[in-house]
Amino acid sequence: SKGAAMVTAVAYRLATQQAERQRVLDSLRLSREQLLEVKRRMEVEMSRGLAKETHRDASVKMLPTFVRSTPDGTEHGDFLALDLGGTNFRVLLVRVRSGKQKSVEMHNKIYAIPQDIMHGTGEELFDHIVHCIADFLEYMGMKGTSLPLGFTFSFPCKQNKLDEGVLLRWTKGFKASGCEGKDVVALMKEAIHRREEFDLDVVAVVNDTVGTMMTCGYEDPHCEVGLIVGTGTNACYMEEMQNVELVEGDEGQMCVNMEWGAFGDQGELDDFCTVFDRAVDELSTNPGKQRYEKMISGMYLGEVVRNVLLDFTSKGLLFRGNLSERLKSRGIFETRFLSQIESDRLALRQVRSILQHLGLTSSTCEDSVLVREVCGVVSRRAAQLCGAGLAAVVERIRQNRQLAQLRVTVGVDGTLYKLHPHFSTIMLQTVRDLAPQCKVSLLQSEDGSGKGAALISAVACRLRDAGQH
Ligand code: BGC
Ligand code: MG
Repeated sequence: SKGAAMVTAVAYRLATQQAERQRVLDSLRLSREQLLEVKRRMEVEMSRGLAKETHRDASVKMLPTFVRSTPDGTEHGDFLALDLGGTNFRVLLVRVRSGKQKSVEMHNKIYAIPQDIMHGTGEELFDHIVHCIADFLEYMGMKGTSLPLGFTFSFPCKQNKLDEGVLLRWTKGFKASGCEGKDVVALMKEAIHRREEFDLDVVAVVNDTVGTMMTCGYEDPHCEVGLIVGTGTNACYMEEMQNVELVEGDEGQMCVNMEWGAFGDQGELDDFCTVFDRAVDELSTNPGKQRYEKMISGMYLGEVVRNVLLDFTSKGLLFRGNLSERLKSRGIFETRFLSQIESDRLALRQVRSILQHLGLTSSTCEDSVLVREVCGVVSRRAAQLCGAGLAAVVERIRQNRQLAQLRVTVGVDGTLYKLHPHFSTIMLQTVRDLAPQCKVSLLQSEDGSGKGAALISAVACRLRDAGQH
C-alpha cells in the first residue's frame, strides 16, 4: 500500500542518515595501529630534528634550550617573569627561597593584548609589553628597582645561549610584523630604550614547556618531561648532550624544546587528517603549519567540532538543516564550552542550554546528543594523538639510558588539559598502552610558566655570579 511504502521510505532515509553520521564520526576515530604509526613517525622526526644533517628539513625542530639540569632546591632570589603566548599575558614577581624553608612566592597581574597589537608591528607589541612591565613595577611599589628577568616566550625560538631567542615563526594566531628571524631579547631591549625610563636585565628566554618541567621538577626529581596542552601544544624533555648535535659537547644532558606542534607539516599526518582538519588549517593564520597542534590544542579543537557540525547541518542531519549565522562564525566553541558539554555530570537539557547560549537555538534533544558525541570523538582523538607523541618521547628517554623500565614524571600545564573532563585520562591510557616499558606519571603544574622562568633565571644568576669570582 501507499502508507507502507511511505513508512519504508522514512525508515530508509533514517537509516541512511544514521549511516552517514557514523561514517563521518568514524573518519575521526583512530585505531591502535594508527596510533602506533603516529608514535613511530614522531620517533623518526625527533631523530631528524636532533641530527645536524637533517635538522634543516625536519618538521619537529628539537631546539636546544641551554637548560642543563632540573632544579636542585638551592635556587633563590627575587625575579621578574613575563609570560607571553598562553591564554593570558602576565607580568610576575617571583621570590624563590632555598634551604629547609624552600618555597616560591608569586605576585602577578594579567594584561590584555588587544587584537590590533597582536596583528600590528613588532615595535608596537614590544612597546606594549614594556608598558605593562612599567605598570606592574609601579603597582608593586617597585619602581626604580632592577631585578633579573626570565621571559617565558611560548613560540619556537632558536637559542644559541640562554638569554637569546630568535623567533623562528609565530604560532597560535600571533602575527606582529618584523619579529620573525629576530632575537626577542634584543626587540625587548630596544623597546626599553625607546621608553627611556628603566633598564632590565633579561637573563633567560624560556619556552612554557621548559618552565613547566622545571616547576614540576622542583617537587619531583623524576620529572624530565614538560607538556603543554593549552591554546597550543608542545613538549620538552631531557636529552643526552651527545645526541644534541646542534650544540658542542657530549657531557651530561640538555633540555630540548621539541616544538612538536609542527609535526605533520611535511605530510606525516596526512593519512589521518579529515576534510575538517583541512578546513581548520586553511582558515587559520598559518595554513600548512602546526598541523599536529591543530588536531590537539584548545585554539583549534572547537573549530574542528564546528566544521563537523556545519557538515552535518548542511546534510540536514542536525539543527533541522538550519545553517545559522552563529554556526558559521569562527571560534564559538571555546575550550570551556567543549569541556562543559563533555562533563559527565551534565544533563542533556544543560547541553541544550549551552548550545542555546552559543546562539544555536534551533537545537532539539537529539541534536544535543549528537553534538556531545562529536565533541567526544574530536577530543578523544586529540588526547590519543597527544598520548602517542608522549609515548615516543618517554620511549626515547628509556632507550637513551638503556633501561628495561623507565620511571618518569611528565609535568603538564595548559587550559585544555586542566579544564577538560577526560583529556588526561585518555592521554595517560594511550601512553601506557603504547609505551608499556615506561611507568609514566602525570603531574599538573601550578603556574609552570612563571615559576619555571624564575627558577631558570635563578640558576643562570648563580652560574653567572660564580663565573665572576
Ligand atoms: C608554540 C610552542 C608552545 C606551545 C604551547 C606552540 O604553538 O610553538 O612554543 O610551547 O604552543 O604554548
Ligand atoms: Mg620547551
